[in-house]
Amino acid sequence: MAHEDCIFCKIIDGEIPSAKVYEDDDVYAFLDISQVTKGHTLVIPKTHTKNIYETPPEVAGKLFERVPYIANAIKKAYQPAGMNLLNNNEKLADQSVFHLHIHLLPRYGDEDGFS
Ligand code: 5GP
Ligand code: ZN
Repeated sequence: MAHEDCIFCKIIDGEIPSAKVYEDDDVYAFLDISQVTKGHTLVIPKTHTKNIYETPPEVAGKLFERVPYIANAIKKAYQPAGMNLLNNNEKLADQSVFHLHIHLLPRYGDEDGFS
């Protein structure tokens, strides 16, 4: 169920536009508005859950099950030399949007702006 005032729930509902990378019944993936590297993508469950601590196993399972497919789609489209997966939980650990998300960060080498 959509969580009031959650920006990512609004993205899933189409209330806020996004550049969609992938979608199915359980998962939505879209380009991060602030591209740390080219193709920087966020993968989120359609079920609102604050972060990893509050995520039921079945929601986490469906989310992570789709990650390899989405990572390969990004790899094919952008041809990075590597990719980092990141997940921030709680403010101190740099979580700024409180709807669980996995960052897929394509890496291109020393000049890709990510360190
Ligand atoms: P966090 O810091 O919580 O791990 O990551 C949140 C990410 O969401 C940030 O990288 C930020 O750029 C991205 N973000 C925040 N608001 C929006 C938005 O409205 N649209 C998109 N596509 N990304 C967003
Ligand atoms: Zn949400």
